[in-house]
Amino acid sequence: MVRSEESRVSEGTSTRAERAVRAALDLFLPRVCVSCDRHMDAGESGLVCSLCWSRLAVLPSPRCERCGHPSEGRGCRFCETLPPFVRAARSVCRLPHEVGSAVVHALKYHGWTAAARDMGARIARLSWPADVIAERAALIPVPLARSRERERGFNQAALLCDSLASFWNMPVWHDALLRTRATRTQTRLTPGERSANVRDAFEVPVNQGGARDRMRGLHLVLVDDVLTTGATLNACATALFNAGARTISYATFGRARASGDR
Ligand SMILES: [Zn+2]
Ligand SMILES: [Zn+2]
Repeated sequence: MVRSEESRVSEGTSTRAERAVRAALDLFLPRVCVSCDRHMDAGESGLVCSLCWSRLAVLPSPRCERCGHPSEGRGCRFCETLPPFVRAARSVCRLPHEVGSAVVHALKYHGWTAAARDMGARIARLSWPADVIAERAALIPVPLARSRERERGFNQAALLCDSLASFWNMPVWHDALLRTRATRTQTRLTPGERSANVRDAFEVPVNQGGARDRMRGLHLVLVDDVLTTGATLNACATALFNAGARTISYATFGRARASGDR
């Protein structure tokens, strides 16, 4: 039971030799689904079997038109936590969940580019308000601290951006945001502590011809693997807005349950 090693992030583009090795491995070593460990059928591509994809926990309907959160129809508590310049947020599935969490884990801790491709394809198919579709100008990944990215070898949000960009046919601005300081892991923090932890942790670098010069007045889409309280995305959006962007929307693969959610 071997997952083909060369679908991991390495040099970026795969060479003809790598593709030949992959084809040979697919032939001799059965691939297994990262979620259920079942052997994949010959017709299945990617890292997750079709049965698992069908079991992904989509967010319950009806959902808020702005933030995409499951909504009761009168006011939206999640929207109240978003800065006014955030137009819309959309996510593919509820987390934690057996399938969704396995996919995020495969991307984040193993750098499976095939996971990023499948996740990006599902983000691309989400339904967005017409004005977001008309206005969105570029995708921006939520950055990792430099030390974390060096350790991991990649930024999972950047991999998702590259996949999403291929479906939406729009640029990714990898240089638009920098994490100026490493932040504590957010896992055990309350929503208030999360906001304080990431406040002023991001900046739009000033460099000639850089993203800052291009973003004035634009509607930008921030991309991350998971939206939890929104603290990190809100801090990134604030940095972009302060640098001249007019509107920001959020696209993530997973969305954590917020307090009071169904
Ligand atoms: Zn499976
Ligand atoms: Zn809302």
